[in-house]
Amino acid sequence: MSDAKNDVIDEEEGGEAPWEGHPIYKNALNIMRSVGDVIDFDVNVFARLSKPRRVLYVSVPVRMDDGSIKTFDGYRVHHNTTLGPGKGGVRYHPGVSLGETAGLALLMTLKNSLVRLPLGGAKGGIKVDPNTLSRREKQALTRRYTSEVAMFIGPDKDIPAPDIGTDPQAMAWMMDTYSMHAGYAVPGVVTGKPIEIGGSLGRLDATGRGVVYCIIEAAKRLGLELGPETDVAVQGFGNVGYHSAKIIANIGCRVVAVTDVSGGVYNKNGLDVDKLRDWVAENQVLKGCPQGDYISNEELLFLPVDILIPAALGNQITVGNADKVRCKILAEGANGPTTLEANKILDEKGVFTIPDILANSGGVIVSYFEWVQGMQNFFWSEKDVNNKLWEIISNAFNRVFECHQSRNVGMRTSAFTVSIEHLSRAMLWRGFFP
Ligand code: GLU
Repeated sequence: MSDAKNDVIDEEEGGEAPWEGHPIYKNALNIMRSVGDVIDFDVNVFARLSKPRRVLYVSVPVRMDDGSIKTFDGYRVHHNTTLGPGKGGVRYHPGVSLGETAGLALLMTLKNSLVRLPLGGAKGGIKVDPNTLSRREKQALTRRYTSEVAMFIGPDKDIPAPDIGTDPQAMAWMMDTYSMHAGYAVPGVVTGKPIEIGGSLGRLDATGRGVVYCIIEAAKRLGLELGPETDVAVQGFGNVGYHSAKIIANIGCRVVAVTDVSGGVYNKNGLDVDKLRDWVAENQVLKGCPQGDYISNEELLFLPVDILIPAALGNQITVGNADKVRCKILAEGANGPTTLEANKILDEKGVFTIPDILANSGGVIVSYFEWVQGMQNFFWSEKDVNNKLWEIISNAFNRVFECHQSRNVGMRTSAFTVSIEHLSRAMLWRGFFP
């Protein structure tokens, strides 16, 4: 196919790169390493994928409402662009760092390859707690960040999208800022936009919908009937947590526990997801909601439920608590919620894991649809969007499940294997430059 195999890239000696020590990055690398036990993983491809392609740091000055100027740290990382332009969200969170952003960009590369999108992997973020900003400050932050990364993004280069702490409004400001520089509307520069400026129907609930589509596929394989006796717990009540809870309740399952940063509620007879949303709209957080008893974020992970959906931050299920997890299906709405060591424990306990790069891929799949619709100026019905999402995600699920069975490996290793096999072939066809 190519002579890349003979051109072994030397690992560079010396200091640790800033991303190498981050748990999300390290974890993703370790899972990639484990793929080497399953397939003949080309040493050069591994070396290339173990580092991001390019990283950009930007300082983002913002005039605050009190007249002072605060400067925030921002990043955009292109992990790999073999399959197409970089694609991945922008996160606003106090825990954002270059290491986390690079780790999440690596996961995007593998997610996009797994579901066979013609897209590479990228991620961005700003170290900030968006809840402490006024609307004006958030707009100023978003516009200046966009301006600072403008030379790095574009419909053919890298297409940002929402992630934790960002929403359609932030995407609208990004699109507008980029378009102001260009002098004309450029809808293809970001996805997750409001419908009126080129967003796609079905994008807002796409990640949660994809989580539920994967659960339906998993339940079929496990012979588990999804009905009023099927208990579900959801950690996180942002875009992914809320829509996962809402859609799984709509198909007839019983959502018994939901938490957000403040903790949350547990009721063995089931919760009304819309009423939880109304409570949060009024009270900002779930804590104190009278629908059930208080439960902490960690306690939720240990409930004896059929389905557990971690849909918040990474590193929640670790070697320190994995043995207490008691669900039948773990559907990872979040990116990187389970460490590799914890995953081994879960596999041994017989928990069926739908790994992040498969379970939460619905978001980027519909982002891809949005990008395509924007480039063609031809928009689809919500039914078409959801049908196409189902087709892509269930095919990906089949590929992962087939590899899991035929090669006798855990679902996570299987997902990484399927993804890397596709991406490796692409990288080897393209060969080595110069
Ligand atoms: N932030 C989402 C993810 O982690 C969506 C990315 C996108 O739509 O580009 O997959």
